[in-house]
Amino acid sequence: MAWLEACYPEAEQKAALLANWLLTAERTVFFTGAGMSTESNLPDFRSKEGWWRRIDPRTVATPDALNDDYPLFKDFYAARMKSLEAAVPHAGYHVISSWESRGMVQAVATQNVDGLHRKAGSRNVYELHGRLQAVRCSRCDEQASEQDFRRGIPCQICGGKLRPGVVLFGEILPEKDWDDALAAVQQSDLIITIGTSLEVYPANQIPLMSSGRSVYINSEYSGAAADFDLVLEGRAGEILQQVDRLLKSVKK
Ligand SMILES: [Zn+2]
Repeated sequence: MAWLEACYPEAEQKAALLANWLLTAERTVFFTGAGMSTESNLPDFRSKEGWWRRIDPRTVATPDALNDDYPLFKDFYAARMKSLEAAVPHAGYHVISSWESRGMVQAVATQNVDGLHRKAGSRNVYELHGRLQAVRCSRCDEQASEQDFRRGIPCQICGGKLRPGVVLFGEILPEKDWDDALAAVQQSDLIITIGTSLEVYPANQIPLMSSGRSVYINSEYSGAAADFDLVLEGRAGEILQQVDRLLKSVKK
């Protein structure tokens, strides 16, 4: 693409191409994974000694723990919620939400359960593994507050145990968010995947379901990159800010 090479230094060419695609796309969807969150300097839940109280989350993030060992289950998730309280979405989240408010982004599908896209102002967010803070009753499904859960207060409707809104090991994925996310992806003509190694089924199928252009932003090389039209290696926050600056310079 001669115009890219003529107009932009090499370091900006990929970002400029993405900016161009964003301007010409009718429907853009983001798909984000853990790599998006880690740039927000989330307090590492896995301390040097290992997981919280040296407990493997696969043994406590389960329906069995919810049913049979509720105090441990509750303390585990209350600790995760507390660690997220101070988490601040990095600049890349704000770029995505600002593009959404300008009509340039239709939806965000995320594997993350930390709620950072919402915290940054994104509205059309599909949470494929649920969201920690979306507390509900494990018996009657009524919504409840995060504070009630963290204090160990039972459901005010039926007295059932409260639980976080995440998918536990062995549970099925949230059907509505998946259906809505897949529909948005299928209708998209630009999909931008960020911070996921795309190793886990069925999430790794999501970028393939768009018939439009596909972009992959990741901090390290992944074999999955071969399936994309454009790959940008680096920190998502910096790359999205660079693209945003280019968009603003074009629009002047
Ligand atoms: Zn209830």
